[in-house]
Amino acid sequence: MTSIELTLPNGVKYTQPTGLFINNEFVPSKAGGTIESINPSTAKPICSVFAGDETDVDIAVAAAKKAYKSWKKVTPTERGAILYKFADLAEKNFDLLTAVEAFDAGKPAKQNSANDVTELINVFRYYAGYADKVSGRTISSTSEKFAYTVREPLGVCGQVIPWNFPLLMAAWKIAPALAAGNTVVMKPSEFTPLSILVLMTFAAEAGVPAGVLNVVNGLGSIAGAALVSHPDVAKVAFTGSTATGKRIMQTAAGTLKKVTLECGGKSPLIIFDDADLDSAVMWAHIGIMYNSGQVCTSTSRLYVHEKVYDEFCTKFVEHVKKASVIGDVFDDSTFHGPQVSKPQFDKIMSYIDIGKKEGATVALGGEAIDREGYFIYPTVFTHVNDNMRIVKEEIFGPVVAIGSFTSEEDVIERCNASEYGLGAAVFSKDVARAHRVSGELEAGMVWINSSNDSDFRIPFGGYKLSGMGRELGIEGIDNYTQVKAVHVNIAK
Ligand code: NAD
Repeated sequence: MTSIELTLPNGVKYTQPTGLFINNEFVPSKAGGTIESINPSTAKPICSVFAGDETDVDIAVAAAKKAYKSWKKVTPTERGAILYKFADLAEKNFDLLTAVEAFDAGKPAKQNSANDVTELINVFRYYAGYADKVSGRTISSTSEKFAYTVREPLGVCGQVIPWNFPLLMAAWKIAPALAAGNTVVMKPSEFTPLSILVLMTFAAEAGVPAGVLNVVNGLGSIAGAALVSHPDVAKVAFTGSTATGKRIMQTAAGTLKKVTLECGGKSPLIIFDDADLDSAVMWAHIGIMYNSGQVCTSTSRLYVHEKVYDEFCTKFVEHVKKASVIGDVFDDSTFHGPQVSKPQFDKIMSYIDIGKKEGATVALGGEAIDREGYFIYPTVFTHVNDNMRIVKEEIFGPVVAIGSFTSEEDVIERCNASEYGLGAAVFSKDVARAHRVSGELEAGMVWINSSNDSDFRIPFGGYKLSGMGRELGIEGIDNYTQVKAVHVNIAK
């Protein structure tokens, strides 16, 4: 049995595939291993799916390697057409994908997982359109020679994704890889294995040839490790924690695989005294509380100019109380759902404890919500200092630390005094200052007068320990190609 009949909490019945997806078929794992997916809203199991090990990864990589031979020869326009069809099928099944994601990952359906599915469709269409626009250059060097470059695919790509945006992270990786002519073996997070399997039910109908796109669920230490060390995998694309990213880079060094990493962050948000405070309050809330704080680019440390510190904190706490509507993920008004898992819940609660012990003021929340599942109150710490662990370390939950600053130079230095460099936000009405500060911030993405504004047309990625390489935009597809230079001798 590689599927199971499930009823979603909204009453919809559907067939959930549970197999590994290899060669366009759902198959059991060879050794019969499984993992259980837990509903974060209730802490109760949803179902089990097959979990792969080294043998299954071997089979999937072999399928992808075989399929690569013909897939790279499919015309880019045809590859684009298949991705368009994939997007159309996702759109047709919008409500199902939204609901399964809400169920499995604990993401409020209307205000959260629906956005992910919209973005998935956009990403597939964006790279579908880009497939036949990948091109090289011609370079003339001497009168006896010219050269041209060709952007070629890499081969089999091993893609490892986390649990916070399962469908979205899958789209960011699958669409550019296939558009550029690569084949894929994807390893989803063991905490959220379901929605990606539903997505795979569209692959054959979209026209993806067998073996081009494969999914092996399983544990990171087993299936993930086997994939990133596999000698036939040409590139590893990873999104997850910095600790795992480092391990993957070490493993990939053995075969000099291409590696792109999207890792953790502790992104600052600066509010100058001339900022539109109401707008800053609104964005600061989205910047940390969206997806229950489980966003790698969360602006989780706020630096507010001392002149407006008290006013901002008062307004912010009032807004968070109102806007972070806590509830059932299938209720349209819910903004704030559960954390994804018990380990994540425990980690966040331990950081809240650390913040209290470090002497920060709890201005809001600071405790778990008394209901089943893994719910934690949106938590606001004020009067923090830069030595506190809640200011330095990634918590990956609905916890924000608000400190104050006096001068532009001082705040830039403090923002940059982090091992991370993913995002940063600046609020100011002074255009020159906003751009000047943006230029000084060590971050892969800076938002001026907004926060966490991700866009599929714009490159995404980090400086320092937040990662290497870029996803999305043109850079996203460039990272799935390699450049061949052809020297042409035209001498008589
Ligand atoms: P994680 O590193 O624990 O797991 C991520 C993925 O890696 C999972 O699929 C896991 O099974 C796999 N994995 C674990 N060990 C592995 C190994 N040894 N070899 C190969 N694969 C392995 O991270 P997580 O807890 O799932 O996600 C949270 C983290 O992800 C946070 O730190 C967050 O900042 C980061 N994140 C970053 C971005 C970004 O784009 N920068 C986006 C989302 C999440």
